[in-house]
Amino acid sequence: MSSIQLQSRLPRTYKIIDIKQATENVRIYTFDGSLGAKPGQFVMAWVPGVDEVPLSVAYDDGANIQLAFFAVGDCTEALARMGEGDLVGLRGPFGTYYEWEPGQHIALVAGGYGAAPMFFVASESVHHGTTIEVIVGARSKEHLLFLEELESLPHVALHVATNDGSMGFEGFNVTVLENMLKLTQDSKTEDPAIDQVFACGPEVMLKATHSVCAKYNVPCQLSMERYMKCGYGLCGNCVMDPLGIRMCTEGPVVKGEVLAKLDEFGKYHRDSIGKKNEF
Ligand SMILES: Cc1cc2nc3c(=O)[nH]c(=O)nc-3n(C[C@H](O)[C@H](O)[C@H](O)COP(=O)(O)OP(=O)(O)OC[C@H]3O[C@@H](n4cnc5c(N)ncnc54)[C@H](O)[C@@H]3O)c2cc1C
Repeated sequence: MSSIQLQSRLPRTYKIIDIKQATENVRIYTFDGSLGAKPGQFVMAWVPGVDEVPLSVAYDDGANIQLAFFAVGDCTEALARMGEGDLVGLRGPFGTYYEWEPGQHIALVAGGYGAAPMFFVASESVHHGTTIEVIVGARSKEHLLFLEELESLPHVALHVATNDGSMGFEGFNVTVLENMLKLTQDSKTEDPAIDQVFACGPEVMLKATHSVCAKYNVPCQLSMERYMKCGYGLCGNCVMDPLGIRMCTEGPVVKGEVLAKLDEFGKYHRDSIGKKNEF
């Protein structure tokens, strides 16, 4: 084990230098340092005396790291009570990341805070000559995330879907993806075919994305969420049946062909004591 690997397994304190209240329940924190994360990787965020939780990296440019989170329980609510200048323990980065080839045409499907890692993919991959179609979905326009940031990037076309039709397409982001794959494959537009689909969001959305990609024979990479404790493959809490692969090390970003072999995908997940919970 190298010293760098050991260091990433221990928390270091980072100062919050900027806070954005993105929606009613989602805050975006920028910290005074980098963890050298790649798009799709996550960090463990520790609030002393409360808990430590996994959060996807929204951005890491080598100088500053950014995290976006929903305040849903003890740890994320404690995090949300912090202010600029406060210190948070971060360790990582952990897990797999999204991979692309230079010049590819990639569709990104984002639901909820899944918009954070999708923004990171878009902002990094455009340096490699990719063109991006990003489809951000939410139940209504107040819950959409990272729209301004995505709109400001070159070679990124932004598509929006809301369940109630308050902005963009009325319906699911995966329906927008399906329409896009159909049009580009039937050569009904001048846009080149989509080479790959990346997605991050609720598992029901990921399952639908996986089915659409299989139908149109387009490779996909999807980010899986399982209950994580150690973050580096030791405790085994985040394994998925029946392959037993650990989502903190062999995931969270998993290729479509591997997901096809994971029976629990879209059906159930395990809680902190390993008990199955149906979706
Ligand atoms: C790889 C990965 C990336 C994530 N990225 C983000 C992100 O970018 N933004 C964001 O808001 N949330 C993210 N989450 C979810 C986030 O970790 C949970 O919302 C958080 O752990 C809730 O903790 P809590 O103490 O605030 O709430 P609790 O009341 O303890 O938990 C609320 C729910 O969150 C889930 N949860 C709790 N602890 C964990 C844990 N250690 N591992 C996984 N799930 C847990 C459980 O489903 C639980 O029912 C991510 C989860 C994973 C696995």
